[in-house]
This record gives sequence, C-alpha cells and structure tokens, in this order.
Amino acid sequence: MKIGIDIGGSHVASGIVGKDGKLIAKETRDININQINDEKRVESLLLEIIEGEIRLLLDKNDYTIGDITKIGVAVPGSPKNGVIRNLVNLHIKEFNLAEELNKIYKTTVKIKNDGKCAGIAEKEYGSLKKYSDCAFLCIGTGVGSAVFLNDELLEPKNNPGFEFGHIIIEKNGRKCNCGKNGCFETYASMKRFKAEAISNFNMDPNTEAEEVQRFIRNNIEKKSVKEFVDEYLDNVSIGLSNIINIFEVEAISFGGSFSYYCDIFIPKLKEKLKPLIFNKDTNPDLVTAKLMNDAGIIGATEI
Ligand SMILES: [Zn+2]
Repeated sequence: MKIGIDIGGSHVASGIVGKDGKLIAKETRDININQINDEKRVESLLLEIIEGEIRLLLDKNDYTIGDITKIGVAVPGSPKNGVIRNLVNLHIKEFNLAEELNKIYKTTVKIKNDGKCAGIAEKEYGSLKKYSDCAFLCIGTGVGSAVFLNDELLEPKNNPGFEFGHIIIEKNGRKCNCGKNGCFETYASMKRFKAEAISNFNMDPNTEAEEVQRFIRNNIEKKSVKEFVDEYLDNVSIGLSNIINIFEVEAISFGGSFSYYCDIFIPKLKEKLKPLIFNKDTNPDLVTAKLMNDAGIIGATEI
C-alpha cells in the first residue's frame, strides 16, 4: 500500500493507492492561507494538513503506517531532491517537505512535479496506456506536462523541464507571470480562456467556470462564440504542433479543465493541426484524460 499526496494551489488531496494504481480511499482539505504572510507558518500549516489527511486515511480504513511502503507527493513548481520550490500560490519559496515527512513517518518519501505525476498515472493506468510515444498536457490554471518515448518518461537531471507552458508562441506577445512575453500558457491556459470569455461576452466578473462552459456550449454555433473559440484553438494548435513536431508522439492526452471541453475542441484542433504538422503522415490521437482529479495522487505513488 502506498500513499499519494497531490498539493494544489488551494487544496491538498491524499489517497491510499493499492495494486495497479487502484485508489482505495481519498481525503481532501482546502488550504486557506489568505491571512498568512509568514512562509514558516504556511509550511507548518501544510504539514499539519498532510498529517491530518494521512491520519484520517489510516484510521478510517483500518491501516497503520506500517502498511504503507512509500509516500509520494505531487507538487507544482520545480521540486528538487525532496525540496518543494517556488509554490507561488502558497507563497512557499523552498521547503524540504521530504525530510519533514520522513522524520514523521520513517518511510520512503518521493516528490515530483504534478504534471509529471498525472502524466505517469495516465500512461500507466489511463488514457495513454496503449501508446508508447505520447504526451500528457494538463491545461488548467497553467500548463503542466509529461512526455514519454519508448514508454519512458523523459526527465532532465536538474529541473523538471518540459515547460511547454513557457515556450514562446508570439514574439511580442502577452506578458507571462514568468517574466517573459508570449508564453504558450498566456494564450492556452483555461484561466485565460475563462477570463477572456467573461470580458468578451460581458459576463459578470464572478461567473463560475461551469457557467462559462454552459454559455460556450449553448452558443457554439453563434458567429462571435465560434470566432472566440477558433482564436483560442489557433493558439493552442501552434503550441501542440511544436510538441508534435519535436517528439513525434502517437497521442496527446488532455487533463485539467481543458478536458471538459474536449468533445468540442478536439475535432477543431485536428483540423487546425493538419497544416502545422511537419511530417504529413503524422496524425497523433488527441484523447481526454481518464483519471482526472485522481491522476496526481495515483501518479505520485509511482515515482
Ligand atoms: Zn512564461
């Protein structure tokens, strides 16, 4: 039995994962750090939340920590050697989470970038199972990713790499949080898609993502909505074509809130990609992630 933990920008989800990536039990808590400016307090709050979730997982399911052979943690940013780094939403710069968890639980603790973890889960147990050369793209607030060639996850030695969100697709383009201009995620993120839909179609600034989706779906045949979606997918297809032309993948799987639109987006993307793919016999499958919100937890136990 292993424990997988997925640390997001606003919540922590943990689960007990059994054989073949089966999620046996899951706990989720919100992290509310609005009132906390002190990095040390955020770190101890994060530890408290993780400890609380692990306790609940074990108690509710009649396990002890002795049943757990490993703890894996999926985190945003660029974790390195067990240290979580640059968690912008949580205001954590550097925190040796692996060491802290190891002190408490005396078991192996592994930490990896969340896009990679979710990709591993999709590759092992989900939408990418049957492909040997493939990519996973989690398009939500930002863009997370993982690439597999010959069934192996491609991994640089130093940083997680594969920052597809920050490949430049427009020379003098939009300003990105990373400091550059024209990064893929400033055009492709669902956060941006939602914000622009709200401003373009004069919706209430507080409109929820579900409401935006309903509006887009109900009006997809209207010229203004069609043009808006087309413009968004033109940009997405430029980024995708770069990935396809570099890695020659057989499939790309989409996770994150982008996946809620896959039935509308994928047929359009297929058409838009045709003129952008270098090798004319390359025609990768575009598929929807299967494990969705559980992918980070499940993938974290495979690292
Ligand atoms: Zn950027």
